[in-house]
Amino acid sequence: MTIKRRKFLKKSVIGTAMAGSGLWGCTTDQNHNGNTAAASINPHSQSSLPIVIATWDNLKATEAAAEVLNNGGGALDAVEQGAKLPEADPQDNSVGYGGLPDRSGIVTLDACIMDHQGNAGAVCFLQNIMHPISVARRVMESTPHVMLSGQGALEFALAEGFEEENLLTEDSKQHWEQWKVEKKPYGEINFENHDTIGILALDQQGNISGACTTSGLAFKMHGRVGDSPIIGAGMYVDNEVGGACATGVGEYVMKTLGSFLIVELMRQGRSPQEACEEAIQRIVKRHPKVYREYEVGYLAVNKKGQHGAYGTEQGFEYTLFQNGNHNLFPSDYYLKS
Ligand code: ASP
Repeated sequence: MTIKRRKFLKKSVIGTAMAGSGLWGCTTDQNHNGNTAAASINPHSQSSLPIVIATWDNLKATEAAAEVLNNGGGALDAVEQGAKLPEADPQDNSVGYGGLPDRSGIVTLDACIMDHQGNAGAVCFLQNIMHPISVARRVMESTPHVMLSGQGALEFALAEGFEEENLLTEDSKQHWEQWKVEKKPYGEINFENHDTIGILALDQQGNISGACTTSGLAFKMHGRVGDSPIIGAGMYVDNEVGGACATGVGEYVMKTLGSFLIVELMRQGRSPQEACEEAIQRIVKRHPKVYREYEVGYLAVNKKGQHGAYGTEQGFEYTLFQNGNHNLFPSDYYLKS
């Protein structure tokens, strides 16, 4: 994504996505402020496998993941391949290469991955490695641990054959220089200084995997780690139930363990949409004064192929590969007035 993207979607995505998709009917719904508003998705839709869902406008990621699945590949390979696209994209300033740095001007990366057998791997505060999601997978598959951090994660990556690269582009350096003058707060709504790719896939066998990767909040304190590498916060899957992932200000996601919460709510019978809404309401309830200032968005999918999406604010969107089509959708959201 670019600095422009969220501004664009705030103005126009609802119209274009709904017009272009042909998948969903537009239903009316009662929001939590008592207003009637158009619901943006049909959360009860089911579909044939495979399915991929990703945060934000990540068409290239869902295409890469779908290609793996359409060729008979597994969900784990699909989510890794999908996540690698934004990681390598210098235009995407919140993930991997080109990600906006912390306030010291250093790009630090967080990522996690989880498969249908409940295996998990993660890295946090990793520097100078283009594909943290692949290092996370290597942690999962080649070590007895779940998470490696900082210098240890870097040493592990280098030992595994990953190469060190400078991830700070001229563009992101310029944004940092500008930030040093303006000192905008991090996580501000609809200012493009944070976003993460969370991606969930159900393969042709019905097995689920998930991945989450980010450079975290731009201009964060040096050493800060967000929700994205935390299993159960930034992403969680359970092959008996489904999966969930998060984007937005990680501090709120971590304090409510959002992705795990959503999966557990689905286990108890909630639909993915209901579970995402409940997880956002937890944040609202716990942080009634500040939730209006900071954005969080959740995605979920269950084993029936139903999905859900919900954000605190207008502006959260997601890319869905379902029934052979890739589409961008606006998420429904809490704060309608
Ligand atoms: N969740 C990420 C973090 O807190 C940032 C984001 O998704 O915008 O690091």
